Amino acid sequence: QCKGQYMIHEARYTEELRAKIIREQNIINEMEHALETGEFVVYFQPKYELDHCRPSGAEALVRWKKADGTIVSPGDFIPVFESNGFIIRLDYYVWDQVCRFIKNNLAHRGDSEVISVNVSRVNLYNPDFLESLVNLVEKYKIPPKYLNLELTESAFSDDARMIQNAVDYLHKAGFTILMDDFGSGYSSLNVLKDIDIDVLKIDMRFLSKGSSEERGEKILEAVIKMAKSLDMLVIAEGVEEEKQVKMLKRLGCDYIQGYYFAKPMSKKDYVKLLQKSR
Ligand code: C2E
Ligand code: MG
Ligand code: MG
Ligand code: MG
Repeated sequence: QCKGQYMIHEARYTEELRAKIIREQNIINEMEHALETGEFVVYFQPKYELDHCRPSGAEALVRWKKADGTIVSPGDFIPVFESNGFIIRLDYYVWDQVCRFIKNNLAHRGDSEVISVNVSRVNLYNPDFLESLVNLVEKYKIPPKYLNLELTESAFSDDARMIQNAVDYLHKAGFTILMDDFGSGYSSLNVLKDIDIDVLKIDMRFLSKGSSEERGEKILEAVIKMAKSLDMLVIAEGVEEEKQVKMLKRLGCDYIQGYYFAKPMSKKDYVKLLQKSR
């Protein structure tokens, strides 16, 4: 009986694995075409200044809009692209779109409307990464301070010396560096000691609700204090409830990003939102 059960499990496992491989193969077959035909679309999720509750910049988030209208979220294709290297071209494509957007819509309006882009950890191993970013802002003639770079916390655990050099280079070139998903694990405290991060991005979804809520608030308070004393700004992301907004305000958080204020939206809707908020 035991053996029978094992075989059922194994069969299910094989089936799931087969489905996964087919799904990934489809993604790989379609990605080149999708890039050429503009199926990768950049959405914008506004960030809100907590003092005044008004939009102040946004994060660019990619979506895959297929010809048949279905939208695929990055969680489904970014890991595949990270394992086959295609992410380097997709990231560059997104940054290019964002720079063009900044050039056409924001650059003449003032400092507050910066856009942050995500940088895959794979890009840290791309020898052209730093130069291509610098060339991009030169191509569009936008000050690099308009383009903020989000690097996920886990990427910082890779090779400290290499990342320190990359961050130094980017700072000298005028870019702002955010540590994304702070608190999700890994050795971030150690990293903060050695690497000069400008903005800490804390994901509220990492703080569990219910019985440990109070402890979560204490940790958050300490993190924000630490960030301030290291001269970092703090953004909370994944903020969905008013209660969280009030707490973050009380604790002195600088910016909020989350469904409570706005979901990621099309470029057109983001421009409308900016016009309304003026
Ligand atoms: P991330 O950079 O941490 O982006 C935040 C994610 O949280 C986004 O998911 C956003 O839609 C979602 N989010 C924002 N506020 C809320 C909220 O209040 N509640 C909930 N439940 N979710 C919220 P999305 O767009 O699906 O992106 C997922 C991840 O995919 C991103 O996490 C980022 O790591 C990656 N990603 C997205 N676009 C790009 C890109 O152009 N390049 C690279 N390399 N990665 C990207
Ligand atoms: Mg991000
Ligand atoms: Mg994040
Ligand atoms: Mg600093």
